[in-house]
Amino acid sequence: MIRLERLTKRYRGHCALDRVDLSLAPGLHGLLGPNGAGKSTLMSILATLTVPDSGKMSIFGLDPITQGGGIRQLLGYVPQQIRLPSQLTGAELLHYAASMKGIGDRGVRSQEVEKALAEVNLNDKANSKIKTYSGGMKQRLAIAQALLGDPKLVVLDEPTAGLDPAERIRFRNLLRRWGETRVVLLSTHIVGDIETSCDSVTVLHEGRLRFQGELRELARLA
Ligand code: ADP
Ligand code: ADP
Repeated sequence: MIRLERLTKRYRGHCALDRVDLSLAPGLHGLLGPNGAGKSTLMSILATLTVPDSGKMSIFGLDPITQGGGIRQLLGYVPQQIRLPSQLTGAELLHYAASMKGIGDRGVRSQEVEKALAEVNLNDKANSKIKTYSGGMKQRLAIAQALLGDPKLVVLDEPTAGLDPAERIRFRNLLRRWGETRVVLLSTHIVGDIETSCDSVTVLHEGRLRFQGELRELARLA
């Protein structure tokens, strides 16, 4: 369970997030809003990379501000701007990322890496350098990286941007499966990208929470 209360973040006086309350149970959740609404800020706070100015947070009972270290193990994050080391192979990157996540045993690490690559259908390219990957492949590798260590919270910032239609369908099925046991939060500025199977939709506008509920309720308001 994820709980945010009156979460606020300002940049030089500009309010990127303004007293946002949000609760997320395991499931697939969409975060919707135009550019500048505060989606990336919210996701970066959930990923414990940005510290809020005020408000309360609880991630599976832990407070990221005072217990940050323990939370990193529980979460997978795909930022909007993906930067991957082009000289490494996909497998090398994932091995490195897995050890950073505290998966010390080499055998376990190899298993985790194989499993994550299979999830995004990248096993064929595992031993090729990332610089030879297409945009969609890089996106899928970043998603695989987020999946290492079986996170309980997966936060994806506009993850479908670089994917082609076939990859999107595959990815959609993957998300549904994850949502069965994990809290999955997916942001987009395109309404059509919000999964019809989302358990909830949250709408941000100018840093304020405008709606949280089921997609069909939102459709009724529109
Ligand atoms: P989006 O497509 O979500 O609107 P942005 O262009 O707002 O993306 O943000 C991209 C990156 O730049 C983010 O990491 C964000 O934190 C940072 N950023 C956005 N606005 C500013 C700004 N005014 N000054 C400095 N960094 C910014
Ligand atoms: P979204 O992801 O919905 O596009 P962001 O969270 O990227 O929104 O941005 C929300 C607001 O905060 C925007 O006005 C953006 O310019 C500003 N912002 C985001 N990151 C930074 C930053 N690092 N420095 C200054 N302003 C920022």
